[in-house]
Amino acid sequence: MEYEAVIGLEVHAQLRTRSKLFCSCATQFGASPNANTCPVCLGLPGALPVLNSEAVAMAVRAALALGCTVRPVSIFARKNYFYPDLPKGYQISQFDRPLGEHGKVCVLSGERNEDGRIVRRTEKVFGITRLHLEEDAGKSLHGGPAESDETSYVDLNRSGVPLIEVVSEPDFHSSQEAYDYLTHLRKVLLYLGVCDGNMEEGSLRCDANVSVRPRGTCPFGTKVEVKNVNSFRFLQKALDYEIGRQIAVLSESGRVLQETRSWDEAQGCTLPMRSKEEAHDYRYFPEPDLPPLELSTERIELVRASLPELPDRRLDRFMSVYQLPADDALQLTSTPALADYYEECAHLSGNPHSSAAWIMGDLTHALKSSDGDICACPVPAARLAGLIRLIDGGGISGKMAKTVFEEMYATGELPERVVARLGLSQINDEDALAAVIQRVMSANPRQLAEYRSGREKLFGFFAGQVMKETRGQANPQLLNALLQRLLPG
Ligand SMILES: [Zn+2]
Repeated sequence: MEYEAVIGLEVHAQLRTRSKLFCSCATQFGASPNANTCPVCLGLPGALPVLNSEAVAMAVRAALALGCTVRPVSIFARKNYFYPDLPKGYQISQFDRPLGEHGKVCVLSGERNEDGRIVRRTEKVFGITRLHLEEDAGKSLHGGPAESDETSYVDLNRSGVPLIEVVSEPDFHSSQEAYDYLTHLRKVLLYLGVCDGNMEEGSLRCDANVSVRPRGTCPFGTKVEVKNVNSFRFLQKALDYEIGRQIAVLSESGRVLQETRSWDEAQGCTLPMRSKEEAHDYRYFPEPDLPPLELSTERIELVRASLPELPDRRLDRFMSVYQLPADDALQLTSTPALADYYEECAHLSGNPHSSAAWIMGDLTHALKSSDGDICACPVPAARLAGLIRLIDGGGISGKMAKTVFEEMYATGELPERVVARLGLSQINDEDALAAVIQRVMSANPRQLAEYRSGREKLFGFFAGQVMKETRGQANPQLLNALLQRLLPG
């Protein structure tokens, strides 16, 4: 029998507000444990939540960009469960009336070959069931200081940090589709500026519901929730493993248990965590300390009008305006910061193609090997544009430019300064270069005679001698043209 996987995804994204969802504590990552806390986010009795309007604005932005309908009235609800890092004993979330619903996204997916390169592009539409606002829980620390082998610690800095949860429809049938959707979603959130997308710091987390069923049948199989996956690549591996595991169980007439499993990267498999809760286990009820969240049509439309250019639009524009191939445009629009850098460089240099080549080549390479970030790049876009103008104007050769770029990256200098310091400027003066050629010809009478009697490959010898004399600074095109004129005599 042939089986088909059905996957639904739940993404939690931390909103980039300065303060928490229901109090004025800072949200910044990496503060000393429990420094960013107050009676509200510590869950002390009698403390009252006050809704952060910036978080609401960001959630509305995300909902609209993901094609959701924003409810004029949404309701906060208590989700009750016990956990040491959840001091109130409940999390304030949204349940039956979430902020956004019925969204959809159009994702560029594709068939890939064995190297993972897209060989055929397709656009796929995936549904979004809901997008709601909720607060994050704190963190339990079981590792860390030596004495924690015996003790667990609770850090409540994260308690009350605003999240949006984006729940997809069970529209994915392969781990690749899930990966493409998540990459797309992350990109949209980055472009909106509502989430920093940093998976290592937990700003973006993803859980997946996976089931398999005989291909062509309607009812869903029993679903398993896969949790604790901290990169999209690991999630893809976890899904592949889980799909294979469930098919193996069903093929042997076994039963898949409804449970939550976690991905163990070291062992390369999913392991059971706990049997899965149902929604009624959480005893959701409306949050009595918060009024319904009302959003007027005017307010929603104001947010819609302020949405920035989203990644797909930018991709299309890069392809049409700068005439870039799809793969290049995709790479250059992968983050808004990179796309901004490219556009500035393309405009200032007047050479969109060269800009793309430099950014995807030498610059990306340099950033990778120095673990750098495009936002704090030692070569700002305007300086890279200056370097490209130098090459295009014949000031330096493409080969010299590579050296100049390396120096610029290491020292942060202007390209002209590096060129002057290293004495790299190119010789474009025809008379000066012709004089050097004449000297080289006089110094090598035997080779010249041989060349003139038909040994044409000695052309390279003369070119090399002139380059040596000029320490590589002769303009190669000019040198070529002059040699062709002078050598035959
Ligand atoms: Zn607080």
